[in-house]
Amino acid sequence: MSSWSCRHEVKGICKKVVGAYCRPGMKGCVLVGKVKFEDGTIPPPVWPPEAEPAPGEPEEKPPSR
Ligand code: SF4
Repeated sequence: MSSWSCRHEVKGICKKVVGAYCRPGMKGCVLVGKVKFEDGTIPPPVWPPEAEPAPGEPEEKPPSR
């Protein structure tokens, strides 16, 4: 079994899409264009409640757990 890790991910947070949760394949992710989602859309970034979205990025509520 193999695994993949992203150099931009630190404790579940994406340092490329500053401060957003790591959601592989989301808008701004290094995997955009390399993966396809079943519904054909590119998911938007989601920031933790205490984080400020990057300028120009839409805010989306974090997924419920
Ligand atoms: S969202 Fe993409 S670029 Fe960001 S840490 Fe996750 S895999 Fe890496």
